[in-house]
Amino acid sequence: MHIKKVYGLIFSVAMAAIFALSGFSLEPSTASTHQTASEPINSASELLAQSRFGTFKLPPLPYEYDALDEFIDTQTMTLHHDKHHAGYVKNLNKAISSYPSLRRLSIEDILRDLDRIPEDIQSTVRKNGGGHANHSMFWEIMTPDSSGEPTGDIAKAINDTFGDFATFQEEFNTAGKKRFGSGWAWLVMNKDGSLEVTSTGNQDSPFMQGQYPIMGNDVWEHAYYLKYQNKRGDYLDAWWNVLNWDEINNRLDDAQSWVKEIS
Ligand code: MN
Repeated sequence: MHIKKVYGLIFSVAMAAIFALSGFSLEPSTASTHQTASEPINSASELLAQSRFGTFKLPPLPYEYDALDEFIDTQTMTLHHDKHHAGYVKNLNKAISSYPSLRRLSIEDILRDLDRIPEDIQSTVRKNGGGHANHSMFWEIMTPDSSGEPTGDIAKAINDTFGDFATFQEEFNTAGKKRFGSGWAWLVMNKDGSLEVTSTGNQDSPFMQGQYPIMGNDVWEHAYYLKYQNKRGDYLDAWWNVLNWDEINNRLDDAQSWVKEIS
């Protein structure tokens, strides 16, 4: 169990206790009891105090804005994180602010069951919640210290599924190139534990389709246009130089845990 899961477990238990005490409903909130968060969270008690009023947070980049500059330029990283991702978080929080009960759900839970989201905010939550989940993954699976080739269990899983790494890369890049307009290319795990290369439009997440996203590349023009202009294929090729295979292995592990939970 890695550290994120331990925190996640503590958080889930605490949240369950809080909601058992406070109760919740799917009615829009009429009282202005929610606070807006302006300060970063520094301690578990602050996190819990914050979670009572639940807002999603823009995670900081796990490296400097210029760390990937050889392959993804500094200006693109800055705008992409500070403007695009920040916008998704802001719009998501605004949409759910009138439904306090939604604030106890993780973004994955929300996306897995979008039909449960009230109709008046469903489309906004789909776009911005998807955007928040997709980008939170995207920053984490990149690093300036990439090992280049896959390592560990993901290396074996890729070879078992696709034959070899080069064949997988080609299939993944083709999914990215063929996505018309904006969207994502993915390696996902299906409910039966099998791996598959897929693509989604806009900010749709594999969670919405009953799959677990192990890794994904953003093929919106905002992800590459300043450096690569119309050459999406060059961007897709370059992206393999910045992958964090340790983190992708963590996500493979999470996907396998999810398959066990649902089966
Ligand atoms: Mn993006």
